[in-house]
Amino acid sequence: MRQVLIVTGGSRGIGAATARLAAQRDYAVCVNYIRNQAAAEAVVKQIEQAGGTAIAVAADVSLEPEVAHLFESVDKALGPVTALVNNAGILERQMRLDEMDAERLNRIFTTNITSYFLCAREAVRRMSTKYGGAGGAIVNVSSGAARSGSPGEYVDYAASKGAIDTLTIGLAKEVANERIRVNGVRPAFIYTDIHASGGEPNRVDRVKQFVPMKRGGQAEEVAAAILWLLSAEASYSTGTFIDVTGGV
Ligand code: NAP
Repeated sequence: MRQVLIVTGGSRGIGAATARLAAQRDYAVCVNYIRNQAAAEAVVKQIEQAGGTAIAVAADVSLEPEVAHLFESVDKALGPVTALVNNAGILERQMRLDEMDAERLNRIFTTNITSYFLCAREAVRRMSTKYGGAGGAIVNVSSGAARSGSPGEYVDYAASKGAIDTLTIGLAKEVANERIRVNGVRPAFIYTDIHASGGEPNRVDRVKQFVPMKRGGQAEEVAAAILWLLSAEASYSTGTFIDVTGGV
């Protein structure tokens, strides 16, 4: 049976690297994005030129109707999802907690937490043997920030990733006997666009001196961990995490 993968936020960064690697490993891939259609279509084109199958679907995964649209589009175009990478995430300008307002907090929490819950729900409804599905695997992209707390930069973002780790542990146990595995990766210091949203596009180069490996990471290095957790090689692993943090 063909594996069908949805990557939320698959148009850029870690999500795009994951989509490309999954296609090389014969997954049919849905590249979800929110507004950067050109980037999403470029990923699809790269996959197709390499002989793979991919579609791009625009959906804000923090919104329930758009999540429904995303999964229904995949049902129609590729068949029911067998693998989900919850990856779409944001951070905002670096500041201390005592400067943050509720609007910012709610944006971070709905984009980084609610979206993962909604997409996991739709995936479970299609994968679980309880609903007549054939099983599947979910990987949640968390962050090393869940362990560090990101003081002085974005404690809200770090806390959203702590919630994702708890989601991973709880959901993994909930569906373990329904042929669904749920695991997480915790990257840190990866060269992507996300750091510009924090107001510091070159953050990785500033902090890499504190990383035991003395370098930042590439999105492809995170994608490799994600693909391993999705694969049959990880068949007895659920509710666990791979840190991709250069030793931090
Ligand atoms: P990125 O380069 O900024 O890409 C973000 C992706 O998410 C884009 O594809 C974007 O779509 C999409 N997106 C944002 N909000 C969305 C929404 N509401 N609905 C659907 N798609 C949405 O980010 P990244 O660095 O690859 O990060 C990916 C994940 O890794 C995030 O969960 C992040 O927290 C985590 N992470 C990253 C690092 C790091 O150092 N980079 C470290 C730890 C964890 P558009 O292209 O349409 O804007």
